[in-house]
Amino acid sequence: MTDGRGGLVGAVDVGGTSVRAAVVDAAGTIAGFVTRPTQAARGPDAVIAGIADTLRDALARAAVAPQALAAVGVGAPGPLDWQTGVIYEPPNLPGWDAVPLSDRLTEALGVAVYLENDANAAALAEFRYGKVRGVPHMLYVTVSTGVGGGLILGGRLWRGAYGSAGEFGHMTVDFEGPPCDCGNRGCVEALASGPDMARWVRQQIEAGQPSALRGASQLSGRDVVEAARRGDDLAAAALERAGRAVGFGIVNAAHLVNLDLVVVGGGIANAGPLLMAPLRAAVDRHLLRSTAPNLRIEAWSLGQNVGILGAAAAARARLADAAPQAGLADIEPQAG
Ligand SMILES: [Zn+2]
Repeated sequence: MTDGRGGLVGAVDVGGTSVRAAVVDAAGTIAGFVTRPTQAARGPDAVIAGIADTLRDALARAAVAPQALAAVGVGAPGPLDWQTGVIYEPPNLPGWDAVPLSDRLTEALGVAVYLENDANAAALAEFRYGKVRGVPHMLYVTVSTGVGGGLILGGRLWRGAYGSAGEFGHMTVDFEGPPCDCGNRGCVEALASGPDMARWVRQQIEAGQPSALRGASQLSGRDVVEAARRGDDLAAAALERAGRAVGFGIVNAAHLVNLDLVVVGGGIANAGPLLMAPLRAAVDRHLLRSTAPNLRIEAWSLGQNVGILGAAAAARARLADAAPQAGLADIEPQAG
């Protein structure tokens, strides 16, 4: 891989189950992709060493020397401080209490490392590399084991006062709705996340609703999506309910900040029209068009690459902050 215009960045996507790393050029070409188990139970020191080794493997596969990298971007679950690069007790990384991940990796790799929370990174990925890219007022929503979001306003990631902006999953869409893990009721997440959909399906079955999922011992969001695809009415109803919840969240966000584009990603988004049709219907019915007349809603275009490309896009955004004249102009125009 040669560096081309705009240089190369290392990209690392840290999740509770796997660490993925690659080298990414300015156009979003991924080289040397490597994935390894996180082995989160071994604690921060071992996981950090594993992250550095995974990126070294990716560099070797891409035949790129570490000194050739302009920076390394790391997307990780929050809570974290993007400025100091410290991670605070993420639920899926046990034992991580105020771990200075950026500093530790900078020391190990000898290159500047920038940390970004995974939902913000995914928003930056679709903003920079997605099929519909460079739209300045954009919300990215991920619907997966949780529901999260990243907000781009005026062509820049919007972090808010404490860096925690974009908590789309905990917008209330039904104040008498089901309890959420955060302690509130009727959050988007409490209706639309995979585990919450599965819980609702189980409750409906216990209440006597017919479903092919009756008798399933473990039920996940993926099981619900697969059953809905096979024509199970109850599973389809769970996705319709989830789609409406996400749709109402989008309406609220669009009313507040006048969005041009919403991109919906995450594993549950792979349900396609089973999620997207009720979502779009809720937006069509309830959006005050005067507040967002050109709002487009698209499914993610990057799929599972959103994590790696998000880490890369986060590093490039931080490099651009250091050289502000770059800005939007360095995003390649979209094809078609
Ligand atoms: Zn909540």
